[in-house]
Order: sequence, then structure tokens, then C-alpha cells
Amino acid sequence: MKIIDVHMHFSNIEEFKKTARNISKVDYSYEGIVKEYQRSNIVLGIGMGLTEGEKEGFPDPSTSTPMGLDLEERIPASIVYCVGVNPHHLNDEGLKALEKTLQQPEVVGIKVYLGYYPYYAYDEIYDPVYQLAIKYQLPVVFHTGDTYSERGLLKYSHPLTLDEVAVKYREINFIMAHFGDPWCLDGAEVVYKNRNMYADLSGLIVGDVEESNRLKDSPIFFNHLKHALVYCNNYSKFLFGTDWPLVPIAPYIEFVKEIIPEEYHEDVFFNTALKVFPKIKKILF
Ligand SMILES: [Zn+2]
Repeated sequence: MKIIDVHMHFSNIEEFKKTARNISKVDYSYEGIVKEYQRSNIVLGIGMGLTEGEKEGFPDPSTSTPMGLDLEERIPASIVYCVGVNPHHLNDEGLKALEKTLQQPEVVGIKVYLGYYPYYAYDEIYDPVYQLAIKYQLPVVFHTGDTYSERGLLKYSHPLTLDEVAVKYREINFIMAHFGDPWCLDGAEVVYKNRNMYADLSGLIVGDVEESNRLKDSPIFFNHLKHALVYCNNYSKFLFGTDWPLVPIAPYIEFVKEIIPEEYHEDVFFNTALKVFPKIKKILF
């Protein structure tokens, strides 16, 4: 089965490098991702644009909009990206730069970092970004759920806060990254109720192969997630993503295969990504 990974990272973020080295034990580099993708038949990865400054580390209020992929100078041909938005830098200059980036073929969506930056998805600060999403017919991905930084603020990343923006901007397709984990049941209601709300299943495990298998086989760790998937009862709204380098790719595929009924694998691992990220069709076919 051909697979699209709709959520991965290829940015020079200290915390990701540390996690790759000490926790997930993956080779966070050009060669590392090319090897893992080839082994698992992943034909395309969608990177989440993100940069950090020297002083602060992520989330960094000083980085510019747009944020891209800067782990290495060369980026694998199998990786496209969602451009990252820093809401502190959405003045005329930032918006102009953002619009220019959206016109590039390898930019397939927009990423908003709820929780890492202290604004709700429905805050008017993001309105010009949504206007650009409409103009270029691009989806908007929201970080939701736990923040991978103690400095994050969880009230902004709760999945229920996505309902209002989904209602206001029906013409935009939104993706709730990480299915709002651990508030997956709240996330499921927002996905269920809004035809333009999807969820990615990335980042639900952080760790190496052993940790992946231990959590996967734990009788209760993922009860909330399984309950939420069954409640939502619409597997065509879910997309496969990894959040690499936080977890190695191959065991994560096995984990998602186990929580999604087999008849929906083609949709979750491939077809729905083509629908939600229309620009990737040009790259793949
Ligand atoms: Zn991520």
C-alpha cells in the first residue's frame, strides 16, 4: 500500500533533535527520513513549517512568518510542506511574504500552532490567514492537544475551540492535528459535526520501537482514542501522519493499522490526503 504521511517535521528545532537522539532513537536527517520512507512505502511527507531562534527555542515569538523547513539545506524530493504562521508577525510584510510562499508548488497548506502561541483559532488575528487559505484553496492545519513544551498554554489548543472557526469558514478544510489528544472525544464531536473538519492521527505515541509496542498493546492507554474513533463513525475524516522524528515510522504505521478497520486503510493512509491537500495531486501524478 502506498502511504502519504500528512504530518512530519524537518526543521532545525533543538527539542526535536534531542527527542530523536534520546527518546525515539531515529536518525533525524535527510538520509534518515529517505531511508525510513522508502522502507515503509511512504511516497510523500508533508512537513510542518517551523523555525526557532537561537535564544528562545520553540515556541519562539520572534521568528518570522512564514516558517519553513530548515533542518538541512537540501530537502528530500518526497517532502512538501505546510507553511507555519507566527501570529506575532502578521503585519503587512509578514502577510505579503506568506502569500508569496503559498504560490510555490511545494507549499500545500498552512500550519497554525495553537497552544504554542497564545491565540484561539477563532481570534481575528488569524482572519487574514484564512482569507489567504480561501484565495489559494489551501487547507489549514491546527496543532491541537498536548503541547510539546512546558511553555505552551493548553486552553488555546483544546479541540473544542476549533468549532467556531469551522462554522465561520465553511469553504476552508481544516485539519485537527493529533485528533486533539488527549481530548479526543471532544475532538470527535467537532469532526463529526463539521463537514469541513478532519483530523490527523499523528503524534499519538512519542518514543522508540519498544515504547510504541508497549503502548499499542496496553489494554487501557488508548481507550479514549478508540472510543472517539468509534463515536465519530466516519473514517473518511481521518488522515495518517507520524510526527516524525518523535516516533520511528514503521511501528507507527502498525499502530494506526490496528486502530483503523482494514476497509478504511486506503482512505486513511492515502486517498483522503489527496482530497484535503489538493495540490499534492500535481506532485504525485
Ligand atoms: Zn508535529
